[in-house]
Amino acid sequence: MTDTQDRPLRVAVVGSGPSGFYAAEHLQKKHPGVEVDMFDRLPTPYGLVRGGVAPDHPKIKSVTRVYDRIAAQPGFRFLGNVNVGHDISHAELHAHYDAVVYTVGAQTDRALGIPGEGLRGSHAATEFVGWYNGHPDFRDFAPDLSVEAAAVIGVGNVAMDVARILASRTADLAATDLAGHALDALDAGRVRTIYVFGRRGPVQAAFTNPELREFGELPDADVVVDPRDLELDPLSAAELASAEDRTAEKNLATLREYAARPLQGRPRRIVLRFLTSPVEILGTGRVEGIRVVRNALVDDGKGGIRAVATGETEVLPVGLVFRSVGYKGVAVPGLPFDERAGTIPNAAGRVLAAPGAAETLPGVYVAGWIKRGPSGVIGTNKPCAVESAEQLLADHAAGRLPAPTGDQAALDRLLAGRGVRVVSFADWQALDRLEVERGKAAGRPRLKFTRIDEMLEALK
Ligand code: NAP
Repeated sequence: MTDTQDRPLRVAVVGSGPSGFYAAEHLQKKHPGVEVDMFDRLPTPYGLVRGGVAPDHPKIKSVTRVYDRIAAQPGFRFLGNVNVGHDISHAELHAHYDAVVYTVGAQTDRALGIPGEGLRGSHAATEFVGWYNGHPDFRDFAPDLSVEAAAVIGVGNVAMDVARILASRTADLAATDLAGHALDALDAGRVRTIYVFGRRGPVQAAFTNPELREFGELPDADVVVDPRDLELDPLSAAELASAEDRTAEKNLATLREYAARPLQGRPRRIVLRFLTSPVEILGTGRVEGIRVVRNALVDDGKGGIRAVATGETEVLPVGLVFRSVGYKGVAVPGLPFDERAGTIPNAAGRVLAAPGAAETLPGVYVAGWIKRGPSGVIGTNKPCAVESAEQLLADHAAGRLPAPTGDQAALDRLLAGRGVRVVSFADWQALDRLEVERGKAAGRPRLKFTRIDEMLEALK
């Protein structure tokens, strides 16, 4: 133990997604002997790696092997099925640790703010993603897949995941860990046309090239791109010429290939449309169509390019709308929150007393999407978490961390006294084995538990 005190440094990490694990890893590396208790409101770890990453991207999911090594380090405990802010308050939690790091991600989504958004059949893409990934919050989501056409709003990688899952063959999805209830529903579904709308042009699209190329590899789907969308205006041409990486250039080449490809007469169709914004979701009681407007691009005066409506509108018959215009963070009870940004205000990971305040809350940190907003890939969270963990260690070295009043045993007693069934990492590993076994019996790589009750029952 490298501590100057007679006890180890004790840190609570709230949230077991990538940034939580990377924060724990850095503390373990830089402060041998540290005790990390990682909390999650679900009985299962890994955050969006389990509940967000598309099931047909198993390579990305294999990062959990790295997290398992972190969890196996001495001094690490997983406390699943503990909802911080509900089962235990922030103040109560902090009283048992030298420091608390919140890595709770961005748990809700942004709205479009257009008429008809509340109609039945109009959903957040994140709900659909949670549903097909077996996240317990979305177990009963049940989208109506009996419709012929769906619209996905936004051209980020989440939009690509949603469109691709809708356009995939069930037989191919059965080879993934897509949730059993979702596989059955998709198999029975009738969605044949999937529109994907980008409000700006192809050069400004947020998706990355591998995701775009995956569309072209779907055996059951034609990809439709209007060559008119690929004619670059002068602003886009200039942006492309000065781009720092080659993503937009590669995307444009792939889109040109799709535009030139004759239709193969496949049963499904992904129609990618750029310079198009939804203005109204139409229907009586439920979604029956979407009114979209053609946009033009203008200089926003701040070095960026903005879409403005031209007045050229069109109505497309769709029975489902998935808005995929970004995730948004949710406030943690007892901590300051920046409503506009959807983040906990912080300076390099140290939580501020209030948005815009100079002073910090001693011993409280954030990392990942709740710190910087919902951007970047899994790996982006590593440097982000390292930065926050470094602030924590510097504060510890400088004697700036408030001393806890309770210890591990007191924390465990508090939770037990409230009837909280804490799920350990060994419990999770048992669930993991059961999921794989259930999968084997069904000819699937894994059959996820999708209800918390079911998980706790299986652990009995
Ligand atoms: P994102 O990448 O930020 O994309 C959001 C999209 O929504 C953009 O196309 C944006 O267009 C559009 N948008 C925003 N407001 C809109 C509005 N009012 N009307 C129409 N369009 C609107 O977000 P995301 O797709 O949710 O992904 C979040 C992060 O996770 C990203 O960093 C993403 O790369 C990552 N991710 C990665 C993978 C992967 O690696 N395979 C998979 C999933 C997610 P503008 O550009 O015009 O604002």
